Amino acid sequence: MKVKNKKVAVIGAGRSGLSVAKLLLKRGAKVFLSEKESSIRNMKELLELKKYGVEYELGGHTDRVFNFTDFFVISPGVAPSIPIIQKARAKKVKIYSELEVASWFCRAPIIAVTGSNGKTTTTAIIDKIFSYSKMKSFTAGNIGYPFSDIVDETKEDMYVILEVSSFQLEGISRFRPYISIILNISPDHLDRYSSYNDYIDAKFRILENLNTDDYLIFNNEDKIITERIRKKEAIKIPFSLEKKFRTGAFKDRNYFKFYRDGLELTAINSKEVSLKGIHNEQNILASIATAKICDIENEYINTALKEFKGIEHRMEYVGEINGVKFINDSKATNIDSVYYALKSINPPIILIAGGKDKKSDLTKINELLKDKVKLLVLLGEAAERMEKEWKNLTECIIVDSFEEGVKKAWENSGEGDTIILSPACSSFDMFNNFEERGNRFKELFNSIKREI
Ligand code: ADP
Repeated sequence: MKVKNKKVAVIGAGRSGLSVAKLLLKRGAKVFLSEKESSIRNMKELLELKKYGVEYELGGHTDRVFNFTDFFVISPGVAPSIPIIQKARAKKVKIYSELEVASWFCRAPIIAVTGSNGKTTTTAIIDKIFSYSKMKSFTAGNIGYPFSDIVDETKEDMYVILEVSSFQLEGISRFRPYISIILNISPDHLDRYSSYNDYIDAKFRILENLNTDDYLIFNNEDKIITERIRKKEAIKIPFSLEKKFRTGAFKDRNYFKFYRDGLELTAINSKEVSLKGIHNEQNILASIATAKICDIENEYINTALKEFKGIEHRMEYVGEINGVKFINDSKATNIDSVYYALKSINPPIILIAGGKDKKSDLTKINELLKDKVKLLVLLGEAAERMEKEWKNLTECIIVDSFEEGVKKAWENSGEGDTIILSPACSSFDMFNNFEERGNRFKELFNSIKREI
């Protein structure tokens, strides 16, 4: 796609907005950056863009953007429902995501990871495998750098590994990954989408440009996925913890295996894999399938899986005090990830949950709460709705602050218990982000440890 002399408005001056603006400027486009906040964290980068001739406005989106209507680029954090975007739609301005624009300049085949949960973890596992192998690659997207930052360095003989959110997929047009991975679909972000179906539609846009020689790695146990891809003509590679395939990735007793046309290409002993949990087994299978499609030797996959210990804030083992384990799963911002957290750990469990209410259906973990959770500590905006839903299943207490929540969990624990922060909500009513919430949890763990 030629962008030279095109007039482009970039909406949102976050990291990826600034990055795509720079990319477009370097390619000769005339760029106007529009930001609703009056001050931004990356002011230095914005001022640097002045060198390239960017024009910008801070403190609100005005009609100045309509002097730049060859197309708009919308940052992933910007809701498509805001008035300026609605107006642009009405004026038939093309609106793309940063992912789409960066992909126009990408010379390497793309591996794109999407799904409701496990994107970051799976992207990180694939990244680890590639970094041990001789294959050159870049990893970007929601994880690490924006895609636009690295795209100029891509070459045909390497891969780009991308973590791709539904927000980014909303704004694609030609984006075509060589390997698409769909991990799972469960309700999330219902505060942004008008229906669950709209959210599913956004996710499946990842497939819209696939050719018959592109790969699609998918979770065979997810009914929504298998139904949606039925008519898709790509090379389909299923993964499953329940079924075996002539071509696909699966678990066979203690081994993670990959087969092609009935031939076993990989068998990795799960005892040698550091990452635990059923959900992670799915992420591992998807990663192995990706590596084998890219012809990576088993020894590198083995080493990577041995070395990869997981990422912060996702079922992160914090430590133990007097026989009570603490787990930080602050990134569990929807009910499905809490479901897998509870499934993966032994009872008795004390669960700390709540935060900004995403209004999702809470019933999915009811059985697990009844069977494994001895105490629920609820906080934040969602606490009352959660208590109403869950109070008959196990003991519930509502607390006023995060600090009080951790304290109450500790006071009510005994040897052999696990205290887990797995909130099923985003953190924005109390913290800036899930990292801050997880770090606070770890600080509180440390202060309890110091005190006793
Ligand atoms: P994402 O990037 O999609 O938000 P993460 O890898 O950051 O996913 O994990 C988010 C949460 O989901 C964590 O609580 C993690 O333990 C859990 N999780 C990870 N992989 C899966 C999976 N395959 N299915 C369900 N939950 C998962």
